Amino acid sequence: MRRLLLALPFALLPLAVAHAHDDDHDHDHAHGTLGAHEHGVAKLNAVLDGNTLELELDSPAMNLVGFEHAASSDADKAKVAAVRQQLEQPLKLFGLPAAAGCKEDQQELESPLFGDAPKADDEGDEHEHGHQHSDIGAHYQLTCANPDNLAQLDLAPLFKAFPATQKINVQLIGPNGQKGVETTPAKAAVAF
Ligand SMILES: [Zn+2]
Repeated sequence: MRRLLLALPFALLPLAVAHAHDDDHDHDHAHGTLGAHEHGVAKLNAVLDGNTLELELDSPAMNLVGFEHAASSDADKAKVAAVRQQLEQPLKLFGLPAAAGCKEDQQELESPLFGDAPKADDEGDEHEHGHQHSDIGAHYQLTCANPDNLAQLDLAPLFKAFPATQKINVQLIGPNGQKGVETTPAKAAVAF
């Protein structure tokens, strides 16, 4: 799979996610600091560059699946599979103006819950409460035929699909520069 482009611009952001998009280390260990894994809160990076729109969602598994342990029961496995299926359809989760003509090119889903091997330094990553945390990462690349019509990104479908998500901190880079926007179910749209 061709390498996605997102890591570079975001490395320059003041609020940059603590982890570079780097296959060797893409779990956020900044617990207790800015960018810590906080249930109900997710992060989204969005970059529009020419015709290419990249979306990178980083969420506690709790927000999407309702738990963060490895699924062992049939019910848990079914839940994980259902969430994965939802995440495989970004155009149903991210509201983009139809006039922009965006189509998905590629995607990458990653989580210990999807059977991805935990990173070596994740083992025994427990809080003082003894709760083991897991994230889900979803990275999409889309091509938009008419990016001039891409006035906004509406996260309402995502909030609706995953109601345990209360807030998504969006870092956006578009033709008008870069900005950080806090979105909630009541205020879910971000202008490019
Ligand atoms: Zn957690």
